[in-house]
Amino acid sequence: MDLGIKGKSALVCGASKGLGRGCAEALAAEGVNVTLVARTPAILEATAAEIRQSAPTATITTVACDITTAEGRAAALAACPHPDILVTNAGGPPPGDFRNWQREHWIAALDANMLTPIELIKATVDGMMARGFGRIINITSSAVKAPIDILGLSNGARSGLTGFVAGVARKTVAANVTINNLLPGAFETDRLKTTLNAMAKAGGRDAAELIEQHRAANPARRFGNPAEFGAFCAFLCSSHAGYMTGQNILLDGGAYPGTY
Ligand code: NAD
Repeated sequence: MDLGIKGKSALVCGASKGLGRGCAEALAAEGVNVTLVARTPAILEATAAEIRQSAPTATITTVACDITTAEGRAAALAACPHPDILVTNAGGPPPGDFRNWQREHWIAALDANMLTPIELIKATVDGMMARGFGRIINITSSAVKAPIDILGLSNGARSGLTGFVAGVARKTVAANVTINNLLPGAFETDRLKTTLNAMAKAGGRDAAELIEQHRAANPARRFGNPAEFGAFCAFLCSSHAGYMTGQNILLDGGAYPGTY
């Protein structure tokens, strides 16, 4: 299927590794010109070089910055001022016990996982509407539907973003601008390893054993891989996906046990 987005421009945050990289690769493979944002220049440049090789028709630009800061967002938007596609993403908040979190921990989580996506949407959505095409994807978490106790900062901040998106997504779709959230379950990335290692430590368990237990417990008997997450994201960004907006789409191998 031709996704109909060749030549469009995309700003993809948290794009040097994991799920953001998966999205950037899939969009570039469709001929989208992608601006990759991540913090560590060396990893970012290595990723960009690999994507340029695998998708030679796409123009790949890099911005090394912290997207959760005003300066970082300004740098990203200066490099890609009029994106047709925006993928918001940043590292998730650290796991822990809510009894140990102070106001500054909550503010950091809200900044990274709620207010940064909202600021990026604010900066780009009107231009998309004026041009009659836009696709905004927020990478959130399965924790929005099925909260994970040690990820309380994530559960809270991402739920705030989800509520915000639910309102605004209905105001943009008539202009062919959709806003949807992708909710990853367990995907094989650095972040997953960090979370499972913390769970093992908190419970006094062997980390390798816990990881295998989680893998086996998933109905798919495996973790997801970033490439399949990226392919899904690319379809949601396609010209064919203009009638879907304000949705929370769970990609978790069936781990969420509910009917709805
Ligand atoms: P990852 O650690 O593998 O990759 C994160 C990427 O984001 C890296 O490129 C990193 O450089 C970049 N990044 C992080 N903070 C940034 C910042 N402040 N500014 C710019 N770039 C930044 O993580 P991942 O597994 O791909 O996770 C992506 C998001 O999805 C995270 O918010 C995570 O909490 C969430 N999530 C992941 C899983 C999973 O199983 N992997 C499950 C649920 C939710």
